[in-house]
Amino acid sequence: MNCINLRERCGRRYKVVFEESYYAERPEFRVAEAAWLTIMPCQHGHICPWGGDRLAACGCLGCGWRRAWSDFGIGMTGRAWT
Ligand SMILES: [Zn+2]
Ligand SMILES: [Zn+2]
Repeated sequence: MNCINLRERCGRRYKVVFEESYYAERPEFRVAEAAWLTIMPCQHGHICPWGGDRLAACGCLGCGWRRAWSDFGIGMTGRAWT
């Protein structure tokens, strides 16, 4: 399954980083998993790829969610706050 590449879509306007587990992956997996392990940090949590053309919010109370929607028109999928 594909997912949104946050770095490509949002990286020019917002800080985009790799999730911690990215650094634990072996290099050959990193390349394939890079987009999946990319997150956009926000005040309380982060926004991460959900799959397809949607993103998910982890711990975000709304800031990253609004940003993704209003600035990039990216749909969000609700997710249990972690
Ligand atoms: Zn997440
Ligand atoms: Zn947030």
